[in-house]
Amino acid sequence: MKNGTSLQIGVIGVGHLGNFHLRQLSKISEISISGIYDINASRAEEMSHNYNIPSFSNLESLLNVSDAVSVVTPTSLHYKIAMEALDTNCHVFIEKPITDSLSHAGTLLKKASKVKKIIQVGHIERFNPAFMELKKMDIAPHFIETHRLAPFNPRGNDVPVILDLMIHDLDIILSLIDAEILDIRANGVKVVSQTVDIANARLEFENGCVANLTASRISQKELRKMRLFQEDNYITIDFQKGILEEYKVCQEEPNIVTAKEVIKIGTENKKYILYNRPVIPKHDALEEELRHFIHSIYHASRPETDGDSATEALRIALEIQSIIDQ
Ligand code: NAD
Repeated sequence: MKNGTSLQIGVIGVGHLGNFHLRQLSKISEISISGIYDINASRAEEMSHNYNIPSFSNLESLLNVSDAVSVVTPTSLHYKIAMEALDTNCHVFIEKPITDSLSHAGTLLKKASKVKKIIQVGHIERFNPAFMELKKMDIAPHFIETHRLAPFNPRGNDVPVILDLMIHDLDIILSLIDAEILDIRANGVKVVSQTVDIANARLEFENGCVANLTASRISQKELRKMRLFQEDNYITIDFQKGILEEYKVCQEEPNIVTAKEVIKIGTENKKYILYNRPVIPKHDALEEELRHFIHSIYHASRPETDGDSATEALRIALEIQSIIDQ
């Protein structure tokens, strides 16, 4: 470690999300925050004051005193900054998407492997309490439907909605379905910004599963939902509220103690629908993913949302984008 005692983590880009990185990192006793760097000097000064940590006037000085950094700048800058961090022997947490080009992502992965540093990417929904609950269940969906809708916000518009929002659901789906994608259909429209603001994609997997994804950043209301359909089973997740609900068809009357609600179907060959809404302990997904990053550094282990899985999500996102652009 560069200061010989605790792990020093710096934050680069302290805008909207960088502020939350600082808030969560400052709760973690196993590390120290080495400082911040932001090209916007007044924002850097404000955050430095709020968290009582040093603000550096250039990136190099922050990297020299850090063992790891969070890169929370606009996406178009992820590659350049992460590359410089790896060159200075820092582990790197990069906000999603990893970069805006596959060749840049590939170069970062090679560099990280050469200097033996960890890349974790901010695919935060994998740390959502409801999704973590889903991972404990038997999952073999035939059909998945996702909706990720947000009101318009000028932040994030340097990339199309596929790279900004849909990539969260792509990453999740790729982590659930262990099969190649056979076919992609997609459509999207630039409504407000210079890039696609609303998009739909249909992915068909080799195992027969179909995923239908809709992402919009021009909606009136916010919605982050996923529905999974599999034999005798329907599961729905509300990422915003951290809720998972399951409807399961059973041939025998379920144990009423565990079943919240039982609905009989038919009089002969009775079936029962069992409704279950597990009690999920709440946690902050950003804190959880930053703790995972720190744990991966201390234990030299591969993070869940490593550079490879993030690059795969980027590859599919760019393919969707190119289908829309045709
Ligand atoms: P933002 O515009 O609020 O903040 C970006 C900050 O980076 C600004 O303070 C800006 O001054 C600073 N900056 C710009 N150029 C810089 C440079 N060269 N060096 C240092 N700092 C620089 O944007 P945001 O909403 O915080 O988004 C930042 C990143 O986080 C984006 O990649 C975005 O995709 C990602 N993001 C992820 C999630 C998520 O759910 N995981 C949510 C929001 C944003």
